[in-house]
Amino acid sequence: MFDIAIAGGGATGLTVALALRRLSGGALRVGLFDPHKGQPRGGFRASALAPGPRRMLEHLGAWSKLESLASPILTMQISDSRLEDCVRSTSLQFGAEPAAGGPLAHLVFHRDLEAQLAACAAASGVEIFSQRIVAYSDQNHAALVETDAGETIQARLVIAADGAGSLVRKSAGIDVLKWPYGRKAIVATIAHERDHLGCATQHFLPGGPFALLPLRGRRSSLVWTEPTDVAQRLLSSPKDEFLQEMERRAGFQLGAFAVEEGPASFDLAFQLARTFVAPRLALVGDAAHRVHPLAGQGLNLGFRDAGWLADLIMDQARLGLDVGSPDLLSNYQTARRFDSAFNAASFDLMHRLFALDVAPVRLMRDAGLAAVDRLDGVKRFFQREASGVSPGSPRLFSA
Ligand SMILES: Cc1cc2nc3c(=O)[nH]c(=O)nc-3n(C[C@H](O)[C@H](O)[C@H](O)COP(=O)(O)OP(=O)(O)OC[C@H]3O[C@@H](n4cnc5c(N)ncnc54)[C@H](O)[C@@H]3O)c2cc1C
Repeated sequence: MFDIAIAGGGATGLTVALALRRLSGGALRVGLFDPHKGQPRGGFRASALAPGPRRMLEHLGAWSKLESLASPILTMQISDSRLEDCVRSTSLQFGAEPAAGGPLAHLVFHRDLEAQLAACAAASGVEIFSQRIVAYSDQNHAALVETDAGETIQARLVIAADGAGSLVRKSAGIDVLKWPYGRKAIVATIAHERDHLGCATQHFLPGGPFALLPLRGRRSSLVWTEPTDVAQRLLSSPKDEFLQEMERRAGFQLGAFAVEEGPASFDLAFQLARTFVAPRLALVGDAAHRVHPLAGQGLNLGFRDAGWLADLIMDQARLGLDVGSPDLLSNYQTARRFDSAFNAASFDLMHRLFALDVAPVRLMRDAGLAAVDRLDGVKRFFQREASGVSPGSPRLFSA
């Protein structure tokens, strides 16, 4: 019998597996199941890691090799403009949060993050299986999961980290609140003429946010949101036209562009599980919540789930108590569901607010952005919340 069986070896599942093995000194038996075992699937998609999650990776021994591959984000500039505006003037600018003790964030490719986490998890003794979990049931004293190889596995606690389409969540009968955004995010690795100086830019345009996040060298990771039909037209347009449209949105500060990797695209949707727990089951990461990428917080929320769950499981395990107990699950739900719902709803609201291309709304939101930029206390509050170093973060997020 496993203490913990984890469905899904993306960044969230691997992190919680590694944390449990490291924090328990190898005492907890942890099994991780993913049909793509050993083949990180993240490709050239990159995520901005906030300081709290980065500290967790440091504590777990997964950061030292990643650091040389990650790119520090030193500043972030946000603009709100129309496509035809010739200058994208900055409405709001963020620098590093002093309490975070490092840059604003680090940009990492998912392929590097997942490869490093998988290596550390295997070295720590996580048992990794190339199998898909297809069913979950609760047997009171233990949970049972079935794999696509026809095996049945027993565990005290099952963790569903199997992404937005989670089969485990469905098998547990947990419903989701969901709506599509009717938008696609186009992602690519871009080379450009001029240096980005570690600055990330996000232009809120009527079609959706257009973000360039700094990579090592004169390169950036592009996350460009457009209505689905526009995105499809752009993706099937000739290369020169695609580049021209991209440069038009970027505002020419970085000079001429070339596409190094991609483009690829992702459909965007809001999704929140109605509950994050069931008997002997906890949902983490995109299996629990899927948010608009405009704030770059999806994976960071998943890391908060992983950190909290690891804290709560270790508190039980150290006392020799059941690691799948109803109390533990109820505490996890309290710690994570409201925070996730609040964040998901805030990003949803921002998406709706910035999608409105109406003069009075534009005036109001520009005044709001300018006010936040000038009010140091308010700005620092938002920064501390996003950086994951505010009180109420998991213990693994602390210095
Ligand atoms: C365009 C875009 C930009 C983004 N930018 C950012 C950013 O800057 N910062 C940020 O924090 N977040 C960002 N995100 C969000 C982030 O990418 C996701 O939140 C994160 O990758 C989710 O990780 P996960 O491990 O929960 O799920 P996934 O990465 O989806 O991993 C799920 C894993 O489960 C496995 N699996 C699936 N089904 C089963 C099964 N039945 N049994 C076993 N295994 C299974 C899969 O093979 C996969 O390995 C962005 C998202 C998008 C779309």
